[in-house]
Amino acid sequence: MTLVSSLSWTDKDLGLYLHIPFCRIRCAYCDFATDLEKSGERQLFLDTLKEEIKRLPKSSQPLQSVYFGGGTPSLLEPEEISDILRMVSQNYKVSQYSEISMEANPEGLNESRLQGYLDSGINRISLGIQSLNPQELKMLARGHLLEENIRALEALNKKNVNYNLDLMLGIPKQNETSFLESLTLALSYKPSHVSAYLLSVEEDAPWFKLVQEGKIQVADENLMAELYIQMQSHLKNAGYGQYEVSAFSLPGKECLHNLRYWKHQNWIGAGPSAASWLSPLRWQNPKSLVDWIRCQKFPDTGPEYTTLSQSDSVLEKIMLQFRLLEGITIQDYTNLNNAHPELELGSRMHRLLQLGLIETTQTHYRIPVSSVLLSNRVFQEYLP
Ligand code: SF4
Repeated sequence: MTLVSSLSWTDKDLGLYLHIPFCRIRCAYCDFATDLEKSGERQLFLDTLKEEIKRLPKSSQPLQSVYFGGGTPSLLEPEEISDILRMVSQNYKVSQYSEISMEANPEGLNESRLQGYLDSGINRISLGIQSLNPQELKMLARGHLLEENIRALEALNKKNVNYNLDLMLGIPKQNETSFLESLTLALSYKPSHVSAYLLSVEEDAPWFKLVQEGKIQVADENLMAELYIQMQSHLKNAGYGQYEVSAFSLPGKECLHNLRYWKHQNWIGAGPSAASWLSPLRWQNPKSLVDWIRCQKFPDTGPEYTTLSQSDSVLEKIMLQFRLLEGITIQDYTNLNNAHPELELGSRMHRLLQLGLIETTQTHYRIPVSSVLLSNRVFQEYLP
């Protein structure tokens, strides 16, 4: 059964993800659903996206968050973002408290363009700087230089914007000194949020073969761990609380949209590759622009949805909550264990406690801060 024929209304509160699939260049380490923009594609994309927003399930509750991800959403003009948000507010209640984030690349993000986005309704920016070290930026060949990063940061500060900085660990040739210099400079701009990603070159990324052949060397696990621990300590000293494996924020500046994913709350997505979770249903749009457009044109051929079984949903919820440093309350865990004895949650927890991968506080089970890099082992314990 396709979505359109079965689901149009919910009373759940939602977040909305909008995927913008274009990039100015294709970064060699990236395997996201994105491509260079071809002539004429943009208008077709925008028209199709707006049609999809009209057709998505509606909610009686205001949207808690809207998130423009990609790709490079900041390739869109402020008027285009404004146009999309107009369509969103014609179809959903958007309150003054809704978080409306947009991922942006530094190139071209000057004060007047930024003001355009703010005027359109964006109230949070996630800036993909990756590094503030010239050699590392050159290595990544993302097309933006240190000066552009700095210009974008200065514009964000001048406009007093609530913003996240993306930083990357494990860039080829990165070392402790270059990373810490970059981090210190980044923190001097006082972003409200920092996301730190470990570079991982997946199979679809152009670098994959070169890494396999040893022609490009990403940082080894030991260096990666060292950088990560140093980063945790620097961010803590600068007043940033770590609330997720890769997310740090000043108090009260956590990303509401991403928290929604980790708390297993509902969200819907539009655009190529966008996924949706409307408990117990999930579905994902086709990744390529062409397939997504075809699917939107003929909604009856739309993405199939799957119904997550109750047991799988419980395991997934626990796994996601352990991404959060607060973990899961002992009471919630006990209730889930009582409701689903077949999942043997008690034995799973026993193993993790014995290995020291989970610690208990008075109220919670959680991954110790010092073991966050080993969290994959915890997640594996909850695979269905
Ligand atoms: S890393 Fe970001 S900017 Fe680079 S190709 Fe991927 S989505 Fe585009």
